[in-house]
Amino acid sequence: MIKGVALFDGGELRGRRGLTKCIFMTLKPILIHPDPRLKKVCDPVTEFDRDLARFADDMLQTMYEAPGIGLAAPQVGLTKRMLVMDCAKEANGTPEPMVLVNPAVTWSSEEKNVYEEGCLSIPGQYADVERPKSVRVSWLDVEGKAHEEEFDALWATCVQHEIDHLDGILFIDYLKPLKRQMITRKMQKLKRDRTRA
Ligand code: ZN
Repeated sequence: MIKGVALFDGGELRGRRGLTKCIFMTLKPILIHPDPRLKKVCDPVTEFDRDLARFADDMLQTMYEAPGIGLAAPQVGLTKRMLVMDCAKEANGTPEPMVLVNPAVTWSSEEKNVYEEGCLSIPGQYADVERPKSVRVSWLDVEGKAHEEEFDALWATCVQHEIDHLDGILFIDYLKPLKRQMITRKMQKLKRDRTRA
């Protein structure tokens, strides 16, 4: 079992300047846990039109800006089965943006991996999560074309974390109840403080 550290779709809180930028760029506000939209099983995407491609671009931009390495549609309020990710950026500086529509895990390795995960919807909180080290995933691109690929290590953990979002599962759902409740209370406080600010 390999232990790695990664900033998942998790980054630091955006300051006021970041939020202002949001309005001018096509950045989407990211929902913070707890939110009913983050617990919903998302619907498959059925329309592969220009709006979908535009939404995917906005999601990628939102993810890079956060910064994060993955973002699922429900995190920006669209309860559809779509995610974006790029785990290459951190590793070697060459961006490798991916958009996965209606993704499904078709195979998982017996071998497990542990990464310290975080989430843009649970800012500032990180915890070890064990998942299969490699997975095979099938998905459609924004034009509706089918793909299938094997993901390993960080990419595998990231794609599983993001697919979980499409089923209303957060990484804290893998933690012990006490730890999960503690994080949820912190997020409730964060949301109250943000509303007041
Ligand atoms: Zn997440």
